[in-house]
Amino acid sequence: MKIKEKLEDLKLPDDIQLVAVSKKKPKELIEEAYIAGQRIFGENYMQEAVEKIKKLQKLSKIQWHYIGPLQSNKTKDAVKYFDLIQSVDRIKIARKLNMHAKDLNKIQKILIQINIGKEPQKSGVELSKLNHLIQYILTCDHLKWLGFMCIPPFHEDSKPYFQKMQEIYAKYQKQYSLSILSMGMSDDYLEAITFGANMVRIGTKIFGIRQ
Ligand SMILES: *Cc1c(COP(=O)(O)O)cnc(C)c1O
Repeated sequence: MKIKEKLEDLKLPDDIQLVAVSKKKPKELIEEAYIAGQRIFGENYMQEAVEKIKKLQKLSKIQWHYIGPLQSNKTKDAVKYFDLIQSVDRIKIARKLNMHAKDLNKIQKILIQINIGKEPQKSGVELSKLNHLIQYILTCDHLKWLGFMCIPPFHEDSKPYFQKMQEIYAKYQKQYSLSILSMGMSDDYLEAITFGANMVRIGTKIFGIRQ
């Protein structure tokens, strides 16, 4: 099946933003998706992403989202190359992003990633530290915080986690004029939408399985 048909097959409502997750996929497939009308692409690995982004600069209005774990030595490239960084989860990273954004004279859009399943090895801020991180981010002149992202534990029913995220989003949305709740992947995006996701991140269902 062509990527165009796969995109149509997702049957996404118009008000849901789609991030086509192109990690480990060649630039030719990204171009095919772009020609089919897709504009937002998500990447996880900085070096791979930067190579592709440079090669695809000619595609106007293409947008890149960074969705992988962020190490502090990658924050400079994150700011340089990405429209939205979805995986901000600690003060140290926020501080560095803010610093680089200032240097580049940019207001960097970000999401806070929440470790909603409290998994020890997983990225994302724990709920107990969320308020502290938010208060810090609000002091960062060059960061614009737009909402939340989460990845529920694999091999578990996502529903209770999506529901929890929906509650958290509702709690902060008005006060901070948030506009993005990024959750749902190939196997659970329709469910995520029923719990208020307005941005879904889909890889496999568009580009096929990854090696
Ligand atoms: C890989 C990845 C996705 C896409 O996963 P699929 O199951 O291939 O749709 C979405 N979000 C994040 C953060 C990812 O790392």
